[in-house]
Amino acid sequence: MKYRSEITNLIKKESKRLGFFDIGISRAEKLTDEEIRLKKWLDRGYHGSMSYMENYFDKRLDPSKLVPGAKTVISLMYNYHTDKQPYEGDALKVSKYAYGRDYHKVIKKKLNKLLEFINKEIGEVTGRAFVDSAPVLEKALAVRSGLGWIGKNTLLINKYKGSYFFLGELIIDLELVYDEPVSSHCGNCTKCIDACPTDAISIEGYELNASKCISYLTIEHKGNIPNEFKGKMEDYIFGCDICQEVCPWNRFAENHNEPDFEPKEEFLKMKREEWFDLSEDKFKELFYGTPVVRTKYEGLRRNIEFVNK
Ligand code: SF4
Ligand code: SF4
Repeated sequence: MKYRSEITNLIKKESKRLGFFDIGISRAEKLTDEEIRLKKWLDRGYHGSMSYMENYFDKRLDPSKLVPGAKTVISLMYNYHTDKQPYEGDALKVSKYAYGRDYHKVIKKKLNKLLEFINKEIGEVTGRAFVDSAPVLEKALAVRSGLGWIGKNTLLINKYKGSYFFLGELIIDLELVYDEPVSSHCGNCTKCIDACPTDAISIEGYELNASKCISYLTIEHKGNIPNEFKGKMEDYIFGCDICQEVCPWNRFAENHNEPDFEPKEEFLKMKREEWFDLSEDKFKELFYGTPVVRTKYEGLRRNIEFVNK
């Protein structure tokens, strides 16, 4: 039987080989600090119509309830940053994370490969992979595992990599060597709060009123977008990257090297006026297999028309 530190190093090394940006490991224990924060956030109705956020309350706070006998959460970061953007400066905008193939599939596959590696090379474990999954408080777990801190924009920030990455988790019943949380480095900066066009971030930061966030309004929100947001969407029609773009910790963000996340040439070539004429066939051609299909054609058209008014 290998030493725990040796096993931990093997898993970390394999995660890098699989293309993960970084990895952090924490105990599968209840997130007690998050309980009050989550209750307060839900009570204020900041989750808008995302009522699924109210479900699985106990499971969300306690990763050990998701996998029988769970001892460890392995949190992993997967880079999606790219310098590529539509060639026409005034083209409508889609958040960078949605440029390529649906990340759930890409990352889940890699997480399952890591689980297979553990079972084959280390010993049989019970475990489960999660990617952007409703019952998991991914950011809080990543903080606990030392991957970064929660910035005033409420995103996970890594001192060396910024914030343009997806998170995924493996919850397993094997004890490993655990990482320590890192301190916050937002300091006196308020760039994200100042730049948010809809004032979705609270004045002091660290709290997001999701029901005012462009990401929520363009993706999760059903029905008409409220008139109070007219002229504030900054041409975003799916998601929003503004509070990441202005964050100083993203200055050194590297480009990903995941072929599945590459944007289609046709998408990059879209001119502003072409967006306003988007047909259903063109929508399918541009976005088949990407996260944008979530809004369906009608949803994206609603967003385009709202920006155009
Ligand atoms: S994603 Fe956009 S709208 Fe949402 S908080 Fe950040 S800057 Fe504001
Ligand atoms: S922009 Fe400034 S305040 Fe906002 S998350 Fe980044 S470092 Fe923190």
